[in-house]
Amino acid sequence: MLLRVQSITYLAARVNSYELVDCEARDLPPFEAGAHISVRVGDAPVRDFSLWNDPAERARYRIAVLREPDGRGSREWHDRVRAGDIVEASSPRNNFRLTAEAGRYLLIAGGIGITPLMAMVAVLRRRGAEFRLHYCTRSPEETPFFEDLAILAAQGRVVFHHDGGDPAKGLDIAATLREHLPGTHLYYCGPTGMMAAAASASRHWPPETVHCEYFAGPNAVPPMLPG
Ligand SMILES: Cc1cc2nc3c(=O)[nH]c(=O)nc-3n(C[C@H](O)[C@H](O)[C@H](O)COP(=O)(O)OP(=O)(O)OC[C@H]3O[C@@H](n4cnc5c(N)ncnc54)[C@H](O)[C@@H]3O)c2cc1C
Repeated sequence: MLLRVQSITYLAARVNSYELVDCEARDLPPFEAGAHISVRVGDAPVRDFSLWNDPAERARYRIAVLREPDGRGSREWHDRVRAGDIVEASSPRNNFRLTAEAGRYLLIAGGIGITPLMAMVAVLRRRGAEFRLHYCTRSPEETPFFEDLAILAAQGRVVFHHDGGDPAKGLDIAATLREHLPGTHLYYCGPTGMMAAAASASRHWPPETVHCEYFAGPNAVPPMLPG
C-alpha cells in the first residue's frame, strides 16, 4: 500500500519518528502491539520498522528510524524523506505478540529496540496490567521517548539504565532474570549483545514465557513487500 509521510519528529540523537497515513485519509489496516511493517523509500532497499504508536490508533502508523552510519535504508530516511512524500509499505506483521495471559510483564529494551515495546506499554497501561520496563541506552540524549516515559519512570514502572557505552555499567541482565516469578512473561528487543545476554539469562524460564524480536542478524525476519 502507499502511505503519505504526514510528519517527521526528532526523538533523540540519530532517531527520527515518521508518522505515516493513508493517502485518502482512510483508516489503516489494524495492528497489534509488537507488529512491524516493511517499507521502501526511493531506491533504497526494503527495511522493516516496528510500529511504536498505540494500536488503538487507526488513522496512522508511527515508526522511529535510527540512522545507521553506513546504513543504506536508514540513511535514506534521514537524508531524503520529507513530509508529504509517498512511501510503499506492507501491511503490519507480528512475530512479537503480547500475550493476554501473563500475570506480570517484564520488558527489556536496548536503544532503538524500544519501538515495539512502546506499543506494548500503551496496551498494558490500558489493560491495567502489572509491568516493568528496563530501558537501556547510553545517555538521556540518546534515549528516544525519554520525556514520554518520565511519568512511568517516576512510578517505578520504567527504569532507565544509561551506561555511557559500557554495558558493564548498565542493567545487570543476568541478575534481573535470575528468578522467574510464576506468571511473569519476558519481552526483549535490543542490540546483538543484549539479545545474547537476555537469551542466555532466561534459558531456565519456561519457553512459552520468553518473547523477543531481533532487528538484525540471522534471527531477524527478512523484509517483504507488498503485503
Ligand atoms: C522486525 C524488525 C523490526 C525493526 N524495527 C526497527 C525500528 O523500529 N527502528 C529501526 O531503526 N530499525 C528497525 N529495524 C532494523 C531495520 O530494519 C534496518 O535493519 C536498520 O535500519 C538498518 O538498515 P540499513 O539499511 O540502514 O543498514 P544496512 O545497509 O542494512 O547496514 C546494516 C549495518 O551494517 C553497517 N554497514 C553497512 N555497510 C557497511 C560497510 N561497508 N562497512 C561497515 N559497516 C557497514 C551499517 O552501518 C549498519 O550498521 C527492524 C528490523 C526488524 C527485522
